[in-house]
Amino acid sequence: MYGILDSSNSEPEGPRIDDLRQEVDRIDNEILSLLASRNSVARRIADNKSLTRTPFRDDSREQKVILERLAAAKDHSLNPDLVSRLWEQIMADSLRVQFEHAQQAESGTNSEVTIAIQGVDGSNSHRAALSLTPTVEKRSWVSCDRFSEVVAAVKEGRADLGVLPIENTTSGAIAEVYDQLLDTKLTIVGEVKVKVVHCLLGVPGSQLADLKTIHGHPQAVAQCAEFLSELKNVEVVYTTDTAKSAQRIAEINNPTVAAIAGQQAADLFGLDVIEDEINTRTSNQTRFVAVSLTPVPVAENVPAKTSVVLTVSNDAGALAKVLDVFAKASIPLVKLESRPLLEDPWQELFYLDLEGNRADPHVASALAAVKTHTSYLRILGTYPSTDLRPHRVETPSAPLQVREIAVDRKPSPASSARLAERSEQGRDTIVDVRGVAFGGDQLVMIAGPCSVESEDQVMSTARVVKESGANVLRGGCFKPRTSPYSFQGLGWEGVELLAEAGRIYDLPVVTEVGAPEHVERMADMVDVLQIGARNMQNFALLSEVGLVNKPVLLKRGLSASIDELLQAAEYILAGGNQRVILCERGIRTFETAARNTLDVTAVPVLQRRSHLPVIVDPSHAAGDRDLVHPLAMAAVGAGAHGLMVEVHPDPDQALSDGPQSLTHDGLARLMSRLAA
Ligand code: PEP
Ligand code: MN
Repeated sequence: MYGILDSSNSEPEGPRIDDLRQEVDRIDNEILSLLASRNSVARRIADNKSLTRTPFRDDSREQKVILERLAAAKDHSLNPDLVSRLWEQIMADSLRVQFEHAQQAESGTNSEVTIAIQGVDGSNSHRAALSLTPTVEKRSWVSCDRFSEVVAAVKEGRADLGVLPIENTTSGAIAEVYDQLLDTKLTIVGEVKVKVVHCLLGVPGSQLADLKTIHGHPQAVAQCAEFLSELKNVEVVYTTDTAKSAQRIAEINNPTVAAIAGQQAADLFGLDVIEDEINTRTSNQTRFVAVSLTPVPVAENVPAKTSVVLTVSNDAGALAKVLDVFAKASIPLVKLESRPLLEDPWQELFYLDLEGNRADPHVASALAAVKTHTSYLRILGTYPSTDLRPHRVETPSAPLQVREIAVDRKPSPASSARLAERSEQGRDTIVDVRGVAFGGDQLVMIAGPCSVESEDQVMSTARVVKESGANVLRGGCFKPRTSPYSFQGLGWEGVELLAEAGRIYDLPVVTEVGAPEHVERMADMVDVLQIGARNMQNFALLSEVGLVNKPVLLKRGLSASIDELLQAAEYILAGGNQRVILCERGIRTFETAARNTLDVTAVPVLQRRSHLPVIVDPSHAAGDRDLVHPLAMAAVGAGAHGLMVEVHPDPDQALSDGPQSLTHDGLARLMSRLAA
């Protein structure tokens, strides 16, 4: 009998859930206070580094710390993925704390600051201003309707700082703000990136179907264009700021009128969220800058950015000369915007952001050299950079430095594959896929199922791929099958599952694109577009992937010569896309013992003729999982920059290419063999 019918007997045995939850809360608080203690030690380290003039960032130390934590994680049976991600973030934050601390020592602390922003509490400018002034004790606000008023408030001394949005990942540079910065003597003293999530807000009870009017700031409207274009008979009313649109519709109190604003605004004005996250891109970020009348020096060991605005003379090549100065001085440029000059629309103003501190003599002399090629140059400011990428750990079992094969890198006789061919200088192209470098000294490993078949299948395989130390997840979704009756793939649903697995396990993903009309949509969803062997000479498809800004994995055709493979690559390069990875996957010969014959020779030959990275797919060459290991070793021996193998949780049940798919254990064995 179940005890629930008998009230006297309903108390379960053991500790009550409330007690257990209390225990969890206590542990969480302990974690928080440990993190705080870690930060105070980090600040003391910062003082020490400043004294001894040691650089703050030390990649080998970061790598060592993360590897040690990973080793310890094993002893505690903790998920290695969680631990590596956690410590990547902890280390990145520790750096941020050190920079902030050093910067404070340099600039002193302000206990009270008056800040001008466009908008009211709950606006994105308000959030940006809070993160730009983390140590300030008391903030007063000057709330403005327009960007020009923010600038005026700072210029006239009514505010110490002005906070302005300068660019957005979806809608681009905010021209009006750039124009404002030009006409003043203000200087940029800080930057911050704020993730912007737009929601559709209405008075309680509002329904999407009943809406007639939507209020929104023009920037917000632009960032939600796709969502808005699907609404019928709705009028958009432009407003001056996001949070005020919300305030306004709370006052109007009409269920047919909604506003685009953030969740904070909904809470602040008692509104309902009719639709969450309506911005076109989920990674919608806005970069804000803080401006002030007086510059704030940036400590020497804090990474800094400098913003400059200039015009060049009308001579041909003048801009190239400017850029060349920075290139020769090895000063990275991280931004270049151009705007027509208001008084003379035929003259362009160029806004540049460079990595470096204007107080650094090296940067100062480069800027002086640049001046000689410009007709106008003003430094808008030097400020601490927020572009701190977390250090990415190389998983311990990842194959190491196996590429030692040196091929004779001489240019080949003139051929029509001009862009794919190695030039006189003969430098190798490194194709970067979200931090994974194809074409360098590290062997890159792509692994995953032939086809994405189900959520369980792709998630469990992604986990194994991650744990094995492989770098990229593959999975076919539109399968080019020899027979029309074979499984054709899950299509877009498969692409979504693959992308989701990539997000969860933090792995870049690659999938095959089979039709020119799929390219754009696919490029938005995955990290690498694969052109399959059967499509190597689908010229319409090659031209289409040549137009997008996503790396392409180009597989050699079943009966294609090396020259034809390079000509196919040429189609992509000629379209503008320079990130092409070549893949040898076995060719048809008279030999029938294996599915195909792996042309190992192609690896050094391609590397001699082309600067592009070359990887090998032993799975499709072999057609038989027992042959995958030896062929993989042969490919590595021949100097391949990477491998792509198929893996399946239960190869016998696979809907495609089961016989050649490695089991999860098989992948782990291959990875340790490669590392050994
Ligand atoms: C694949 O990699 O999924 C594939 C179909 O390979 P290929 O185009 O080399 O046959
Ligand atoms: Mn396959």
